[in-house]
Amino acid sequence: MDSVLKQIHEFTKEPKIAYFSMEIGITNDIPTYSGGLGILAGDTIKSSADLNLPMIAVTLLSRKGYFKQEIDDRGRQMEEPVSWEPSKFMALLPTKVNVQIEGRDVAVQSWLYNVKSLTSGSIPVLFLDTNVEGNTPEDREITSCLYGGDQVYRLKQEIMLGIGGVRMLRELGFEIKKYHMNEGHASLLTMELLRIFKRDIEEVWDEDLVWDVDRVRDICVFTTHTPVEAGHDKFPYDLILRVLGEFIPLKVLKRLGGEERLNMTLLALNLSKYINGVAKKHGEVSKNMFPGYEIHAITNGVHSYTWTSESFKRLYDKYLPGWANEPELFVRVGRIPDEEIWSAHMEAKKDLIDYVNAETGVGMDYDTLTIGFARRATAYKRADLLFTDMERLTRIGAGKIQIIYAGKAHPKDEAGKWLIEKIFVIKEKLKDKIKIAYLKNYNMDIALKLVSGVDVWLNTPLRPREASGTSGMKAAHNGVLNFSVLDGWWIEGHIEGFTGWSIGPAPTETTLVEGLDRLDAEDLYSKLENIIIPLFYNDGRTWIRMMQNAIGKNAYYFNSHRMMRRYVTEAYIR
Ligand SMILES: *Cc1c(COP(=O)(O)O)cnc(C)c1O
Repeated sequence: MDSVLKQIHEFTKEPKIAYFSMEIGITNDIPTYSGGLGILAGDTIKSSADLNLPMIAVTLLSRKGYFKQEIDDRGRQMEEPVSWEPSKFMALLPTKVNVQIEGRDVAVQSWLYNVKSLTSGSIPVLFLDTNVEGNTPEDREITSCLYGGDQVYRLKQEIMLGIGGVRMLRELGFEIKKYHMNEGHASLLTMELLRIFKRDIEEVWDEDLVWDVDRVRDICVFTTHTPVEAGHDKFPYDLILRVLGEFIPLKVLKRLGGEERLNMTLLALNLSKYINGVAKKHGEVSKNMFPGYEIHAITNGVHSYTWTSESFKRLYDKYLPGWANEPELFVRVGRIPDEEIWSAHMEAKKDLIDYVNAETGVGMDYDTLTIGFARRATAYKRADLLFTDMERLTRIGAGKIQIIYAGKAHPKDEAGKWLIEKIFVIKEKLKDKIKIAYLKNYNMDIALKLVSGVDVWLNTPLRPREASGTSGMKAAHNGVLNFSVLDGWWIEGHIEGFTGWSIGPAPTETTLVEGLDRLDAEDLYSKLENIIIPLFYNDGRTWIRMMQNAIGKNAYYFNSHRMMRRYVTEAYIR
């Protein structure tokens, strides 16, 4: 215990940037993430450690994880709890703070995990935990299930994250110079800060003099990730009053967070000096959704070392020493001989195909053009776009392509679950012509196998729903070519026939476009048939040239080192 406090003491010597995220995905063994948002948070922290940034991260313990996905032979998803033992990975801090919920004092403790870099940088991550003796059984579960439960449960989690998180940092003795909210889940931290900075004025004749909004704004940074209005957390005020009480006067809260319901995004927008979307397009879409706010864009990146396969790591170490902490060195990818790129790729591909065959018995081979599609199973990602015209797909692809899917559907997303079942039906139907596999329980380990082991990484979201997307950036780090709808990061990363290929028309709009399925599918089939399949089988030289471009132009830029340098200069030290 003493040594943990000593560590904390070391960390408190220097003022920090506090990075708040509902989910953080650092390694596969710590299942406190559900998908892209959490992985991004993990990559943010890893790059910050590599770059020796003064950061501390705060998240929830999610003791029961998100869920473990089982799929039966008809494609029906079953969700099982994940059990993991925090004490194996992190140390419990003796410090506790209280947060009032429904009038009760609920105690919160935290676990310390250090993300250590080979550069000697180290970022502490605090995992908040209400499973504390003395709390009611119900309150003990507040930090158990990531994105589980109902609206009340979610609100309690966000109270713990935002308010509990700020209190914990202060109690541990941290001096915080910026609070960075990764998505709106953490935005209640602004309310706690308003209370902390409350001016002591005796005769109040103007509320604004008491609540120092400017002072809070000055130290808050907000990154939004949700390009659709319905995706933003909103809580009715009667619920807020019941669970949190009149934390700050309702009149003030309504002015900051919306008149009708407390909109967590609006609250963060009104109380942050620097606001950004996660790709250029997403910045524009967000500005459209929230007119009047200055919204910048810092395009996401991935942590290069984490998302590069063993075989490519060896190759980069040999030809681009220092690449992991200076991904700009990918610009010199042309030094790597073609044969060595190809054999590094084949090593990753064999590893994947062996895994797929062992898991599913589908009998894939090493030489067939392999297409990968792994992401959350939800309607707008259109996992089934490839199957719009089965006859045409069979004609184009029989004996020439094999396809690997993975992805979880949120337990309450019936349409997403149905998509998995649909793919299972098609998988059976096509099995003698096109081999298809669906890997269960998509996680960080499977993601690395997939993004490095396929030949083409497919992405077919409905525009502009993909705020950024990051798995395609991971693919590029392994010389895997992106074939994707022009949305999110790919609008910036795509050079047709050079770094990969687009699907469907270039975007001009910032609102949701319906009725693109046919158009997109047509383009998908046409490019697959006339460009991608012939190139793969007949022109290996050009294919490898494109792999080099993916590395030298996409991985070079879409990494979290570049992203963090931008957060530092544009958001943190302004
Ligand atoms: C990278 C990653 C994601 C996010 O990928 P997107 O392309 O943004 O959908 C989701 N889940 C896991 C396990 C990942 O590794």
